[in-house]
Amino acid sequence: MADEVAQAQSAQPGGDTIFGKIIRKEIPANIIYEDDQCIAFHDVAPQAPTHFLVVPRKPITQTTKPQNNQKHISIIDTLLGHLMIVAKKCAEEVGLPRGYRLVLNEGPDGGQSVYHVHIHVLGGRQLGWPPG
Ligand code: AMP
Repeated sequence: MADEVAQAQSAQPGGDTIFGKIIRKEIPANIIYEDDQCIAFHDVAPQAPTHFLVVPRKPITQTTKPQNNQKHISIIDTLLGHLMIVAKKCAEEVGLPRGYRLVLNEGPDGGQSVYHVHIHVLGGRQLGWPPG
């Protein structure tokens, strides 16, 4: 089993995460972009020549939790669009003219290992399909 899959199976939602520490500048990251809603930085274990993450400042654990909570649904509703626009801007800045892939791993089966919502942006090579 790949390390990332093992990590995703044992990861638990709740509490502070490594992304919270990066947002608060308690630990370093290779930051591409920041605004009042989110931060984008290069992934420490890149799965493609370019691999960065777009992370909301709000420590939301998952897009799906809590379920059926109207406030959560409305936060996610506006936030995800912003994260995708930031992903596009950053992709232009780092240079991915042939395209890229956005990935949002959700929960154990989705391979989520850090319980703070984030979008992966991968590019710089031909990506295969289907993903593993
Ligand atoms: P996921 O498995 O979808 O939850 O993705 C978490 C991602 O965070 C993985 O791709 C990790 O490589 C990445 N990651 C973990 N720690 C750091 C860090 N300190 N700086 C940058 N990326 C990180």
